[in-house]
Amino acid sequence: MIFGKSFRNNLFLYYSIVFLLFTVLILLYLYKREKDYRIEALNDELNNITLLTDNYIKVNSIDKSRDYRKLDSLISLIPQSNLRITIVSLSGDVLFDSFVHEWTKMENHLERPEITESLKAPFGTAIRGSETTGQAYYYYARNLERYFIRSALVYDVTIANFLKAKKFFLLVIFLSFISIWLIMLLITNKLSESITKLKDFALRVGNNEPFDFRTKFPKNEIGIIGEEIMTIYNKLLQTKNDLAIEKEKFFNHLDALNEGVAFFSQDKKKIFNNDHFVHFLNMISGDLRIFTSDFSEITELSQVTDFVDKHSESEISVTDLPKMEYQVNKDGRFFRVQCVIFKDRSFEVIISDITKIGKNKLIKQQMTSNISHELKTPVSSVKGYIETLLNDPAIEPEKQKYFLEKALAQADRLTGLINDISELNRIEEAAASFNIEKVKIKKIIREVRDNFKSAIEARKMKVEIEVGSEVTVKGNKSLILSVFQNLTENAINYAGDDSTIRVLVYNEDKKFYHFSFSDDGVGIPEEHLNRVFERFYRIDSGRSRKSGGTGLGLAIVKNAILLHRGEILVRNKTSGGTEFLFSLPK
Ligand code: ADP
Repeated sequence: MIFGKSFRNNLFLYYSIVFLLFTVLILLYLYKREKDYRIEALNDELNNITLLTDNYIKVNSIDKSRDYRKLDSLISLIPQSNLRITIVSLSGDVLFDSFVHEWTKMENHLERPEITESLKAPFGTAIRGSETTGQAYYYYARNLERYFIRSALVYDVTIANFLKAKKFFLLVIFLSFISIWLIMLLITNKLSESITKLKDFALRVGNNEPFDFRTKFPKNEIGIIGEEIMTIYNKLLQTKNDLAIEKEKFFNHLDALNEGVAFFSQDKKKIFNNDHFVHFLNMISGDLRIFTSDFSEITELSQVTDFVDKHSESEISVTDLPKMEYQVNKDGRFFRVQCVIFKDRSFEVIISDITKIGKNKLIKQQMTSNISHELKTPVSSVKGYIETLLNDPAIEPEKQKYFLEKALAQADRLTGLINDISELNRIEEAAASFNIEKVKIKKIIREVRDNFKSAIEARKMKVEIEVGSEVTVKGNKSLILSVFQNLTENAINYAGDDSTIRVLVYNEDKKFYHFSFSDDGVGIPEEHLNRVFERFYRIDSGRSRKSGGTGLGLAIVKNAILLHRGEILVRNKTSGGTEFLFSLPK
C-alpha cells in the first residue's frame, strides 16, 4: 500500500503545484487587467477633475487674483472623497494644495515625476505614499500652460483589495480544484490498485514468499501489463520447476550409473559428481581422503588436466566436442577415463571400472593360447601315427591296428575338447537364450548313472542317491545334466576303484536347494583346491589326459551353476575323498 499511497500523494502534489501556478497566473493576469482598467478609469476621472479645476480657475479668474483658496468650494462640490488638488506654477512653486494648509512652505515640485512627465507628454502620472494620510495616492498632472494642475485620488488597487473583490472567482477556482481532485482520486485509485498489486507481486516474488497467481488485475493498461508479467513469470516458474525435476531425474540417473561421472567448470571447480566418481578417485589415487575438487592433483588423471588445458584457448564447435579416452591400471584393476569439453569450456569426466572387461580380455587371450596348445598335442599325435603308417608300408597288421587305435583315441580326445570348448562358449555367450524349465534332479542323476553304467561297473563303484523325487530345480536341463555328468566322470576318473559316489540335498531354503556331490577317493591336494575350477587346470595332466580329461570339466560345472545364480565350492572330506557343495534355484 505504501507505494500506492506515495504514488497518489506524488500525483496530488504535482497536480496541486500545477493547479496553484495556473491559478496564480490567472490571478496575476486578472490583477494586471484590473490595475490597467483602474488606472485608465483614474486617469479619466482625474483628467475630468483637472479640466474642471482649470475651467473653475479661468471662470473665477483665480489665477489673476491668486486666491486659490476658492478652490476648496469646488473640491467640496466634487463627490470623490480624499481628492487632493495641487496647483503648481510653471517654475515649480506650489500655488495651492488642498491637503496642505501652508502650501507656500512646500518644496519645489518641478522634480515630481508626474510633473516632469507632463512636460513631455499630454499628462504625467505617479503612485506614491502620502506622508500625511499614510495611503497610496495616484497622482495625475497636466501642463495647462500657465500652471500645472495635479489631482490625486487614493490608489486602492492592492492585492488584498483585489482578492477581496474576487471572492467569487476564488471560490469557483477552489471548487473546481476540489472536483478535479476528486476525479483524480478515482482515476488514481484505479491506477494505484494495479500498481499496488504489481508491487505486491514483485515484492513477494522477490522475497520468495507465496503469491496467489489467481489474483485479478483491474482492466486498465497497467492491469493488463501486470497480468501479462504475472503470466510470463508463472510460465518461467513452471519451466524452472520442470527443469528442476528433469535435473533431479538426471542426477538420480547419474547416481544409479555404474560409471563415475563429474562435471567441472572451466576453472576446474566441481559442479557435480556422483558417488561412484569419488569411489573411483579413491581407488585410482589410493588415497581415501581424496575429494572431487582434488582431481587435478591425481597423477593418474593428469592426462585429463593436460587435455583441458590444451583446449583452453582453441575454438570449440558444438558438433565436434573435444573428447579423449585412456586406460588406467591400478592395483590389478582397469579403469577407462573419458573426458568431454563443452562449448562453454566446462567439462565432464567419466570413469568406468572395466576390470571385468579387462580381465575377460586377459582370460580370452589365455584361453586362446591354451586351446591352441591343447589342440596341438592330439593333432600332432594323429599326424605322427599317420606319418608312421605312410612311411612304413611293410608294417605288421597288428602294429598298424595299434597305431590306428591310438590315432582314433586322439581324434576322440579332439572331439571331446572341441565339445567342451563349445559348451563353455555356449554358457558364456548365450546365457540369456537358455530355456529354463522344471528339472527333476533325481531323474537327472539316474540318467547320468545309466550313461556311465559300464564304467561304474568296471570300477566296481557304487552310486548313492539321497535326493527325493520331489526335488525340482528351475533351470536348463542340458546344463544341469552336464553338471552331474562332469562331476560323475571326474569321480570315476579320479576316485577310482571301489569308491562310492554320494549325491544328497543337505539343505534347502526359500530359494535354493543345496546339494552335496562327493566320493571317497583320493581327494584333491589342498594347494590345488582353489584352482580346480579354472579352465584347463589339471593337477596331474598325464593322468587327466589318460582318462580323457580336458581340464574344462569343472569350469563347465562352475559356469553352469553360476548361470543359475547358484554357488559352488569344493573341499576334501575329513574321512577322505572330494566333496562338491553347490546350490541350484527352486
Ligand atoms: P579334467 O578334464 O582334467 O578332469 P576337470 O576340470 O574336470 O578337468 O578337473 C580338474 C582337476 O581336478 C582334474 O585334473 C583332477 O586332478 C581334479 N579332480 C577333479 N575331480 C576330482 C575328484 N573327484 N577327485 C580327485 N581329483 C579330482
